[in-house]
This record gives sequence, C-alpha cells and structure tokens, in this order.
Amino acid sequence: MIARKATSGVACMELHVGPLFDRISHVNPELDHSLCARYPQIFSDRDAPKRLCAMGRGFEVGDGWYPLIDLLCRALQRETGCRGAPQVMACQVKEKLGSLRFRVRHASERQHAMITFAEAVSTRVCDVCGVAAWPGHATDATGAPRCRQHGDPGRIG
Ligand SMILES: [Zn+2]
Repeated sequence: MIARKATSGVACMELHVGPLFDRISHVNPELDHSLCARYPQIFSDRDAPKRLCAMGRGFEVGDGWYPLIDLLCRALQRETGCRGAPQVMACQVKEKLGSLRFRVRHASERQHAMITFAEAVSTRVCDVCGVAAWPGHATDATGAPRCRQHGDPGRIG
C-alpha cells in the first residue's frame, strides 16, 4: 500500500510494505499502474498474455525498486523524445540473483548503458523499502538486497 502526502511525486511517497506474499514479489497494484500510466509506450506489453510476453506477469520486483525503475524509464523515454533514440519496449522486469533485470526491445547503446547502470544500482538498494543495502548486509532468501531492517538476520554477512 502507498500513502501520498499533500504533494505528489516519487520523493513525496511513503511506502508501507507488508511481508512478501510469496517467493516472487510484485510491486503493489498502485505502483504497477503508476509506471504503466507514466510510461505507456515502454510498458505497452504490460497486459499481454503471460505465455507470449513475460511483461504480462507484471513487475516481479519489490516496491523498494519503484523509484529506480521510474527514474530509469524517465531517462529512457527522454532519450527517445530528445535524441531520437528508439522507443524502448520492456519485455520483462524482475529480480534475479539480487539484481534488477530490465529486458527490452529496441534500445540504443546509450539506453542499454542506462539499463546496465540501473541494474547495478539495484544491487545496493533494499527491494522492500528503497534505502541503501550494502554488501555483507542482510539479504532475503533469494539474494535480493535488503537493508538491516528487512533482511534475514540469519544471512547477515
Ligand atoms: Zn529495507
């Protein structure tokens, strides 16, 4: 669930996240809708049949990565609008081995570099709450990066 303060925008959001409900987490429906509404061209396959396009399964990441994905999409779309880069279309957005995986079609070299950078940054961001997660700190059982508050104490390095 998400609560908004008086002003809108990513910086003004407070995330209130419950426990992960299964092994594969998804951003909550409000954040899912927000990304699709803000970047309809990037997520044009969001409602595709799951058997045909992995994007149809939604955003298989925790809520804590929402700001990172939002900023990435903003940069990717700006490349298209201002530099004539291809229109990126997301094929799959998920967490794997502790990192964001943002698979796309039709991306320029610069856009691929942006994605690579965002994926690298994700390994240092708690996927539950979005605060810094550092090497050697707690992770969840699948290896997703976690802060001290949300990690599994048994896995603290
Ligand atoms: Zn956290």
